[in-house]
Amino acid sequence: MGSSLSRAEGILQRPAASLAGVGRNRARWLEALGIRQMGDLLEHYPRRYDEVGRTIPMGEIQTRIGSSARVAGTVLEVSAQRIPRRRSLHITRALVTDGSGAVLAVWFNRPYLTGQMKSGVAVTLWGPVERHMGRVQLSNPEYRIHEDGELPDNGAHGAGSRGGPRSAASTENSEGYEEEPFAAEYAGEEPLLPVYPLTSGLTQGVMRNIVRQALGYLKDVEDVPDPVPPAVAARLRLPSRKWSLGAIHFPLSMEGRHRARRRLAFEELFLFQTALALLRRSITEEVPGYSHRPVEAHIDGFYDALPFQPTGAQYRVNQEILADLASPRPMHRLVQGDVGSGKTLVAATALLAAISAGSQGAMMAPTEILAEQHHGELGRLLEPAGITPELLVGSTPRSDREAILEGLADGVIPLVVGTHALLEPEVAFHRLGLVVTDEQHRFGVKQREKLQDKGVHPDVLVMTATPIPRTLALTLYGDLDVSIIDEMPPGRSPVETRWLPTARRAEAYGLLRRTIASGRQVYVVCPLIDESKESDLKAATDLHRRLKYHLRGTEVGLLHGRMGSADKHRVMDRFRRGECPVLVTTTVIEVGVDVPNATLMIIEDADRFGLAQLHQLRGRVGRGRHPGRCVLLADPTTPEGTERMKAMVDSTDGFVIAEKDLELRGPGEFFGTKQHGLPDLKAANLVRDQDLLMKAQVEARRLIAEDPGLDHPRHQGLRAMLIRRYREQMGLALVG
Ligand code: ADP
Ligand code: MG
Repeated sequence: MGSSLSRAEGILQRPAASLAGVGRNRARWLEALGIRQMGDLLEHYPRRYDEVGRTIPMGEIQTRIGSSARVAGTVLEVSAQRIPRRRSLHITRALVTDGSGAVLAVWFNRPYLTGQMKSGVAVTLWGPVERHMGRVQLSNPEYRIHEDGELPDNGAHGAGSRGGPRSAASTENSEGYEEEPFAAEYAGEEPLLPVYPLTSGLTQGVMRNIVRQALGYLKDVEDVPDPVPPAVAARLRLPSRKWSLGAIHFPLSMEGRHRARRRLAFEELFLFQTALALLRRSITEEVPGYSHRPVEAHIDGFYDALPFQPTGAQYRVNQEILADLASPRPMHRLVQGDVGSGKTLVAATALLAAISAGSQGAMMAPTEILAEQHHGELGRLLEPAGITPELLVGSTPRSDREAILEGLADGVIPLVVGTHALLEPEVAFHRLGLVVTDEQHRFGVKQREKLQDKGVHPDVLVMTATPIPRTLALTLYGDLDVSIIDEMPPGRSPVETRWLPTARRAEAYGLLRRTIASGRQVYVVCPLIDESKESDLKAATDLHRRLKYHLRGTEVGLLHGRMGSADKHRVMDRFRRGECPVLVTTTVIEVGVDVPNATLMIIEDADRFGLAQLHQLRGRVGRGRHPGRCVLLADPTTPEGTERMKAMVDSTDGFVIAEKDLELRGPGEFFGTKQHGLPDLKAANLVRDQDLLMKAQVEARRLIAEDPGLDHPRHQGLRAMLIRRYREQMGLALVG
């Protein structure tokens, strides 16, 4: 087995250029697809399959017009023609019969065919069936010439129609699924033909031939190197890797293909989850951290002084965090909670616990507005405990900044709230024990780490208001433990959302007037995509002017990212205090802003926003006693845009919205252009393979618990693959 494995390894590492039919050009085209070695080639999975089916009698070919068919027969005559006026066009025609009928095969620009297709030759042909000038023909079919003159049974002659070479090779194995014969054993007789993603220059026929060849080399090896340990494969009843590689390229049935794909998908997810599990272990188990044992009375007193009762979910998450803080291992926890679920309270509890145990705490938010708001809210929540947070942002005056830096360095200041300004090298702490980052998706992992590095293995709490689909949370944060606040504070009703075409804007404005008349406040959100673009900025100021005109006598504020910090502050404060009933704004307010008296949001050109962003925006209303409403004004021009509007109307559950967003945009786009650390997945699909992902995580964590260094001889294949695939991406220092 060992030597068979290394032989297989050798085959997989052979250059693709060593395959017959791959010259210098094709090798280059293959390389453009990322294919250098045979192993890469076999992991270049088909996008879909052409259902050619089994060989049919030519008399039945009419039934296949518009799709594909395979026939076998004897060539009657061949003709070649060069079209003089179109210099490059060369046509080869062959008329073939099998006794039940005749079919014309037509090829373009393959002059060499006339040397092979000769009258009397036995041939199998398969490809698209078309009607051309009243005649049924096979267009550019692939073919196989039967040198021995023997034609495969096409079922035209009655009995044995399921015969042919396949039935001998197809056997049930112990797992009860049909063994796929290896490609080389049935070349030209596959019922499902792979259709590959290609670059120009390559054809499906060429790809199929070289993949068949590569599979042919593996025919006699027992198995190929496999990252999935045998125990895991057995537990999940996974077919072998070798079988799966054959069956994903040339399946006998779609069921077989499905089984093969799931196995190969599991393998990718398992590799990734193992890398994450190792990373997680290196962060949380192999380094000493703080053991924050808070004074219990402080926590009790804090709860007693709260203006409200924590929700069950807030309480549960707090308990999870307190347990992490008390443990000597550094905490690495992600708190997910829909907008308005009350994450600030959770952050406050954690900070109080760490500070009462003698550490300093820092909380970082992505915008100044948000940092200011957290600073205010934490100040209120922690005041009874005698903790006063400081605020450090880009616009903090120099003298204040000096004082804060000094207080942080000598440990007099227990808590600082800020923006990226916290990351600057001059910011140093005496004993930074807990780092909280809010709205994590706005920060890169690097930035998170930069703040952490200001302490010695501090506890880390990451909070996100963008509910991340489970799949992505596992994938992106597989190194974190996850807590979910899955309950809203009492008395909240879901934001009622309507979608109106812009032609009905008047209705939205009617609602706006009624809302201000009843003493509530309104956000009008402008479709600013890029605030650095003058045209986009103009859209906001124009809208502001139009609304001011429309609502003469009512104060209408304007808030956008290009305003100076003092102006922003002034506008936001007036709105927060209820002095300004209407605020025209860009997505500056997308995250976190909390004005409970605001109950209506009108979003202009809503289809220009992503789903997650719309949901965030909508979360700004209905945060108090009064129910919130949201009007989406949009005339979407794409089906996808329409779907987004419908999704917003249909659901107020952030997780449902996020799943939909992921489905519509795909994982690459989900987090915008930022580096997101998603693995390059070929067989797995993060949206559809959630069950596999969960299984992969369970198995990966189990494996790492048993063999943390991957030292066992059985795990050497896995170890090698991990190092190859993930060392750079993840800074995986521990293996190798
Ligand atoms: P988010 O999770 O979006 O950050 P916040 O922490 O800003 O939510 O809380 C939203 C609003 O709900 C705030 O006004 C906050 O004071 C209030 N709140 C939080 N927890 C509770 C609770 N248990 N009961 C009542 N109101 C709460
Ligand atoms: Mg918040």
